[in-house]
Amino acid sequence: MSSLETIHVDGVWRAAASGAQREVLDPADATVLATVSEGGVADTDAAVAAARRAFDNGAGPWPRTPVAERAALLRRVAGLLERDREEIALIESRDTGKTLEEGRVDVDCVRDAFRYFADLVVAEGPGRVVDAGSDTVHSVVVHEPVGVCALITPWNYPLLQASWKIAPALAAGNTFVVKPSEVTPLSTVHLVRLLAEAGLPDGVANLVTGGGDPVGARLAEHPHVDLVSFTGGLASGTKVMTAAAPTVKKVALELGGKNPNVVFADACESDEDFDTAVDQALNAAFIHSGQVCSAGSRLIIEESVRDRFVSELARRAERIRLGRGTEKGVECGPLVSAQQLAKTEAYVTHALAEGAALRCGGRRPEPSDVRPETGYFYAPTVLDLCHGEMKVVREETFGPILTVETFHTEDEAVALANDTEYGLAGAVWTKDAGRARRVAGRLRHGTVWINDFHPYLPQAEWGGFGKSGIGRELGPSGLAEYREAKHVYQNLEPKPVRWFAG
Ligand code: NAD
Repeated sequence: MSSLETIHVDGVWRAAASGAQREVLDPADATVLATVSEGGVADTDAAVAAARRAFDNGAGPWPRTPVAERAALLRRVAGLLERDREEIALIESRDTGKTLEEGRVDVDCVRDAFRYFADLVVAEGPGRVVDAGSDTVHSVVVHEPVGVCALITPWNYPLLQASWKIAPALAAGNTFVVKPSEVTPLSTVHLVRLLAEAGLPDGVANLVTGGGDPVGARLAEHPHVDLVSFTGGLASGTKVMTAAAPTVKKVALELGGKNPNVVFADACESDEDFDTAVDQALNAAFIHSGQVCSAGSRLIIEESVRDRFVSELARRAERIRLGRGTEKGVECGPLVSAQQLAKTEAYVTHALAEGAALRCGGRRPEPSDVRPETGYFYAPTVLDLCHGEMKVVREETFGPILTVETFHTEDEAVALANDTEYGLAGAVWTKDAGRARRVAGRLRHGTVWINDFHPYLPQAEWGGFGKSGIGRELGPSGLAEYREAKHVYQNLEPKPVRWFAG
């Protein structure tokens, strides 16, 4: 266990002004992993003031640093991430419970995001010349940074979510205050250290560890913050939007999902296809114990193949090896916290009372089946005979729970898949290319996979329809979130306009 000073303001690491601390738990055995500083309003205000100074008049101000230099810094960070890959993967695995291999994949994705935004900001250049329709006018639209950004992130992909915000924010020339989840702050602390090591000027990157309220809430309402980019749950996201409204700051929200995985019978015809579709349905629902915003937690399957598919799915789900994410051979770690475990148990109890049929799981694993026994483990659970009125189908459970609904026609499949207030991601499995395109075209979700589940690309936008959020991360739109467009119109031959006779 280590005790850390985890508040970073103006280039200095320090404890909370109040002296408060918080214990960060290892979800695999509920022991204390580290003790971090528990920031409050005073720390948040100090961090915002530092970011404000660095934006407005810092020594060698970041917003006016040439784009090539900003891009070079991002590439240095990518190199440092590569250097520290194993160390960061271990931090992420111990803090979130995910497997070490998942932690490594996260670090690689984060490195790629830093490289992508470095390339993009250079490729996009300073802006564009506009044809004003007159040879006595020179008109350009230039990109400018928004200003001081508040970046608030969740516990499931701490490093990844922070980087999807930090890399474009820095590329565009902003300064920021990042607030990681109080549950899993450790990898963000490491990343902020790397930014300093890469040569980022003091005050550009500030970090406040602490609770959603007060730290996140103060950032959202703060008059000197120009933009708040939030990733997390719907309930907190609506609070952030409300708190941000009086100051009319820009708001970007990446919220939850209730993501359909639509499987047509023709995707299961050969044994090989069947194996792939089942394997991917497991991957969709149970990776990181279902604690993924884009988890394919709703299997929507053609009735004719349901029995065979669900039997095989349940058979394989039962064999998923649970345990500490750092142990060799473990396929699924624990849930992140006691609260998350209790929430999962409550959803299953409620679903069974509403008529769902339990095909596997539905309980904590036997103590003899999992090590350590004290971790927040829950067995992967398949609930059959579900329908759209059930709470477990409508709400994001964020646990290892897969619900099964069935359809007979393409129209029915689309209607079910779209019957959600969210709209983050979904997949369609079929051999029929025309149907694949038709269904993909009709799904009201920000990402649609055809015959796959979960991959994303830093070059492609990520975000949601409906209550899954506002705005996009990654891709050109992910950089545009952190920019203002400024139109500079120059009259090359000024003359009186004579609106007023004077
Ligand atoms: P959460 O909403 O509880 O917390 C997210 C962050 O917001 C944390 O840092 C928290 O401290 C902070 N927060 C809490 N209350 C706040 C307030 N009033 N004002 C400002 N900040 C506040 O979410 P979580 O449980 O950490 O994460 C899980 C959620 O995140 C799920 O709903 C998941 O779908 C979502 N998520 C979405 C994406 C995406 O890309 N759309 C990615 C990952 C996670």
